[in-house]
Amino acid sequence: MPVRGKDKVDENARQSWFSHQSETAKPYYYSVYLADHDVVAEMAPTDRAAVLRFTFPESDESGVVIDAFDRGSQVKVMPDSRTVVGYTTRNSGGVPDNFRNWFVIRFDKPFSGFRVFNGKNELKGFEAEGEHALAAVYFTTRRGEQVTARVASSFISEEQALRNLETEVGDADFETVKARAQERWDEVLGRIEVSGGTEEQYRTFYSCLYRSTLFPRKFYEIDAKGNPVHYSPYNGEVLPGYMYTDTGFWDTFRCLFPLLNLVYPSVNAEIQAGLANTYRESGFLPEWASPGHRGCMVGNNSASVVADAILKGVTPAEDVATLYEAMLAGRDKVHPSVSSTGRLGHEYYNTLGYVPYNVGINENAARTLEYAYDDWCIAQVAKKLGKTDDVAMLEKASQNYKNLFDPETRLMRGRNEDGTFQSPFSPYKWGDAFTEGNAWHYTWSVFHDVQGLAELMGGREGFAEMLDSVFVVPPIYDDSYYGTRIHEITEMQVADMGNYAHGNQPAQHMIYLYDYAGQPWKAQYWTREVMDRLYSSKPDGYCGDEDNGQTSAWYVFSAMGFYPVCPASDQYVIGSPLFRKATVKLENGKKIVIEAPDNAPENRYIGTMKLDGKRYDRNFIRWSDLVKGAKIDFAMQPDPAYKRGVGPQDAPYSLSREECR
Ligand code: CA
Repeated sequence: MPVRGKDKVDENARQSWFSHQSETAKPYYYSVYLADHDVVAEMAPTDRAAVLRFTFPESDESGVVIDAFDRGSQVKVMPDSRTVVGYTTRNSGGVPDNFRNWFVIRFDKPFSGFRVFNGKNELKGFEAEGEHALAAVYFTTRRGEQVTARVASSFISEEQALRNLETEVGDADFETVKARAQERWDEVLGRIEVSGGTEEQYRTFYSCLYRSTLFPRKFYEIDAKGNPVHYSPYNGEVLPGYMYTDTGFWDTFRCLFPLLNLVYPSVNAEIQAGLANTYRESGFLPEWASPGHRGCMVGNNSASVVADAILKGVTPAEDVATLYEAMLAGRDKVHPSVSSTGRLGHEYYNTLGYVPYNVGINENAARTLEYAYDDWCIAQVAKKLGKTDDVAMLEKASQNYKNLFDPETRLMRGRNEDGTFQSPFSPYKWGDAFTEGNAWHYTWSVFHDVQGLAELMGGREGFAEMLDSVFVVPPIYDDSYYGTRIHEITEMQVADMGNYAHGNQPAQHMIYLYDYAGQPWKAQYWTREVMDRLYSSKPDGYCGDEDNGQTSAWYVFSAMGFYPVCPASDQYVIGSPLFRKATVKLENGKKIVIEAPDNAPENRYIGTMKLDGKRYDRNFIRWSDLVKGAKIDFAMQPDPAYKRGVGPQDAPYSLSREECR
């Protein structure tokens, strides 16, 4: 942190007023004026490095404090090379004992002086190593003089941090690094071009696309020979190959990973290689990597993330067998110390077909429903690999969701070990048998067999009736499981859509289920309502936790007019496109061009649709059609198609079981 004054070292002394009015924040550039020090601080990033530029006042006490944090750290000042190096061991868990984040900082101006500290104790000499190492380096500056610091970090070593600096920055100046970063972000965000909307819609769309590309994060580095290498957050070794981290699959399996598979498959190929490495290094696929296995949420949804990538041809061929083995292995065990990794309750699930309500395993119905879907995902890979015996076993297991369906309430309900349903039961109770949601939300977590679920509800009409109810029942709640009204409940209440809780992930595919009920106009109505009412480009522009890109990716897909209800299937279910035109530039050089020339806020309904110039009468579109390059034309209109005699009975926009599961 830049400072003015040699007494401004510890975090209280060096703090500064700033205003968002004098701040610029872009993906490729950040700038802020620090009023207490009269310094402008700017930053431009690369993958593992950054260039910082400080514009100082006239002072012989201009300086930069390098705080390596408490809980174990080191700094070394090397005045001859105008460099400071060191490490911090500071972390929030999920790392082996030898975890260190190394850094190197190289200035472009000689130091007029420097100080080193361990906590508040100033030390003699050039380095500090201990509980809390800090250094401060000083410059004599004239007014407006700029000092540049080139910075890089590494999880491997000091030497690797230096290599990262040389590779990614070298001698490049601030403006060059900034221009490169802007070019890179333009390329990433330019993969989807939209037009024919409002400026606010563009801002919202690209803010969402930006956040869809932030997680998971690269945890690998590039060695001296130019090959990927990583510090393993699982076993503490430095090993060859890719590694990504910081994502929760309970959230991101739904549509963030499907978005990567469609628009950024080369990135997901690296992520999948990293998942294979995770299994090799820990015996498990991660469910919540941050950076190692963390105990958070439920399910075994790594199966969805892995299966969707294999089925879409994204996964490196040499990792497919390992990842298939990893998915199967995860069915029959649970991590010894991180119970959300693997399958908690697998012994029950694999014998009874569900995780019972009364055996001391929390959120058991949510687990069962997600395990059943996960089994369907693994079955799809088994089919592709020709593992016939596994297919039969997994497809049977994928029907386990039926074990929790209560015909009386037509909702999913916790089930006791003896086969009786949990009692008492309130469909408004959050948590308990479910995870951050209630039975109104979790009943729909049958991504892979929606028609089977509809049959349980008495057919499509009964299914649509239950789906309608979600939006109609008041947003009342029972928060006794949590003992406090968790923010997800509040978000449901303020959204004013009944019990539809878009602010949390279990609900986010629900609107699209109207297509399976043969009532696609309701999906068209509600997707627009959610896009218009629950998203904006403002700092408070999300209706709940953003959650590693999942809530953003929902908007990106929905604005294009389709959504992956069931990852690992070939289908995207159609909603209502937001823009008059959207073009997706695929990595294979093909384009998906989506046009809706009559689109407008009052024309949210699809009248007819064409795929590559031919009338298209399904309410889903296939991934296999899109990746070849596709032209989709939507004719938009102010009223639902059935009112013009085009409707479910005529087949347009209705699904049959054979076509869409
Ligand atoms: Ca959430």
